[in-house]
Amino acid sequence: MTLALRFDNSYARLPGDFFTRLDPTPVKAPRLLALNAGLAAELGMTDIPDAGTLAAIFSGNTPPEGAAPLAQVYAGHQFGGFSPRLGDGRAILLGEVVDRDGQRRDLQLKGSGPTPYSRMGDGRAWMGPVLREYVVSEAMHRLGIPTTRALAAVATGEEIARETLLPGAVLTRVAASHIRVGTFQYFFARRDVDALQALADYAMARHYPEAEGPEEFLEAVIARQARLVAQWMSVGFIHGVMNTDNTTISGETIDYGPCAFMDAYHPATVYSSIDRQGRYAFQNQPGIIAWNLAQFASCLVPLMPDQDAAVARFTEMIHAVPDRVHAEWLRLFRAKLGLASAREEDERLIVDLLTLMAENQADFTNTFRALGNDVARDQFTDRDAFDRWAARWQARVAGEPDPQALMDATNPAFIPRNHRVEQMIAAAVAGDMAPFERLMQVLARPFDDQPEAEDLARLPLLDEVVQATFCGT
Ligand code: AMP
Ligand code: MG
Repeated sequence: MTLALRFDNSYARLPGDFFTRLDPTPVKAPRLLALNAGLAAELGMTDIPDAGTLAAIFSGNTPPEGAAPLAQVYAGHQFGGFSPRLGDGRAILLGEVVDRDGQRRDLQLKGSGPTPYSRMGDGRAWMGPVLREYVVSEAMHRLGIPTTRALAAVATGEEIARETLLPGAVLTRVAASHIRVGTFQYFFARRDVDALQALADYAMARHYPEAEGPEEFLEAVIARQARLVAQWMSVGFIHGVMNTDNTTISGETIDYGPCAFMDAYHPATVYSSIDRQGRYAFQNQPGIIAWNLAQFASCLVPLMPDQDAAVARFTEMIHAVPDRVHAEWLRLFRAKLGLASAREEDERLIVDLLTLMAENQADFTNTFRALGNDVARDQFTDRDAFDRWAARWQARVAGEPDPQALMDATNPAFIPRNHRVEQMIAAAVAGDMAPFERLMQVLARPFDDQPEAEDLARLPLLDEVVQATFCGT
């Protein structure tokens, strides 16, 4: 099947123990749910085929010409416990496409059938998590936060067994690459230094060509991940499953399983139904990324000429990670308050607002969005306390050049609210894609006021509140 995509499959040219070649498992009756036309154009798809052809391609029934399908192997710490072999248990890398800007991008099918890494799983995904990832990852991209993208979603026409029978689907994911901390851990655990070296060389050439060796490589990954986590926190995002196999080397957000954007602000918020200890709660994310990066640093030690010196140096670098996240966090939250300049007392101002928000269960997104126009006050039950804070903020912001413009460009009006995502999924399962289309349209311009979409900026009603999101299995 031709798609006019220019494949160049460099991962498939790595040593054979990096992956298993295999085709996606065909599905019964593929039906196109969504195609991301903008992303398709970026990738160089000039002539878009008809829906039937697209469904055949992006279900995996007829892989595109030039693809070299394979399942990647990796390991990872899941909730702190190490699994020496995970790998793509329900995903197939079709290959890499060099996009119209010359960037190399992975095309991966997720939900495409069993692989040697499936263990007990069926290799499939149901429509809910597929559409959640589609909407949330694209929203993240429009918020300006590095992320994998969604190119297509296809219903398989098959039912899959979860707690009930659910309609199956396949997501086509586009990523800078799918190399994870866990990819390094796989070879590190096997003490395969040659493979580690080959993987490091490959990942550096692909993502950090300026890095001259493992230390610069580590530094670059730390910088991107520290920034990423701060960006998540600046929009109230909780990843939910920050395992090392879900931490990319590229610095993109990956794996939207039990993730969510917060409504009411509370630092201990956790949605994931499988995260009973709250390991990946909102406020824990900086510490967790430091922990994950420590695992990555360990994998690079065998590549260093003086390993004792490397351990000492890398330890320092890892200990600095929470401070680096904090520095990014401070920069981003200053902007959220309309502050272009930096002053010592700003941190206090930010923290005091967040404390008040937590005490008053103020909506994270709507409070920041409205700070400049007084509607924010309604978010607080203790209005006097808010007024006292607002007076301090007004005094601080007074000398700033254009705080409102800065705030409007930093504080989104629209995020993919959990209850709207759940409603969208329920509609899609019933055959109605209209809520999906509307969400996608509104979330494409998150920083624009869109009065006609007021309902999507609203908090959930009591009976709409989503208590937990479930792992996308
Ligand atoms: P995740 O929690 O989605 O990051 O997945 C963790 C591991 O479980 C990865 O190795 C996945 O490929 C695997 N996995 C998740 N769901 C399934 C499934 N339905 N079938 C096979 N493997 C799965
Ligand atoms: Mg994963």
